[in-house]
Amino acid sequence: MQTNPFTFCPACKSHAFTLTNNRYFCDDCHFTFFLNAASAAAGIIVCGDEVLFTIRQKEPGKGKLGLPGGFVDFGESMEDAICRETLEELGVEITQWQYLLTAPNTYDYANVRYHTCDGFFVAHLQEKPELTLQESEIAGVKWLKHPEIQLEDIAFASMRKALAHYLSQCEK
Ligand SMILES: [Zn+2]
Repeated sequence: MQTNPFTFCPACKSHAFTLTNNRYFCDDCHFTFFLNAASAAAGIIVCGDEVLFTIRQKEPGKGKLGLPGGFVDFGESMEDAICRETLEELGVEITQWQYLLTAPNTYDYANVRYHTCDGFFVAHLQEKPELTLQESEIAGVKWLKHPEIQLEDIAFASMRKALAHYLSQCEK
């Protein structure tokens, strides 16, 4: 995994171009580029005592459990992003989301490591909706009761943290 995707300065082509935390800096021409954490949003969709999981169609985390969601587009809020992603991935329009928490994550895609800050939102549904899955992203879905949720089956650290927090809140 290449965690440092740029090996030379895009302004002057110098190889004295190094990444420190989130900041690339060129020692020769002083070109600066910030590789900041990207925002992403994910949804915990609940119906009764069951939570909706997606089965990931592709890497990272292919075949593991995920949650609907994705990167926040330019100009979007996290709330916009979770509504849009849920519609794209599951074909269902959900507008009532409650904020749960945020958690950092790393997302390795096409030999680049992205650092994200993921926002999690919860939606409570009265009945299970009919879903139209986005097959490029999602291989299937699973509704799991709380005791059936195995955190190690979940693709990402941030999702495991959010689910653990959600489940601990439900036990109170
Ligand atoms: Zn330079």
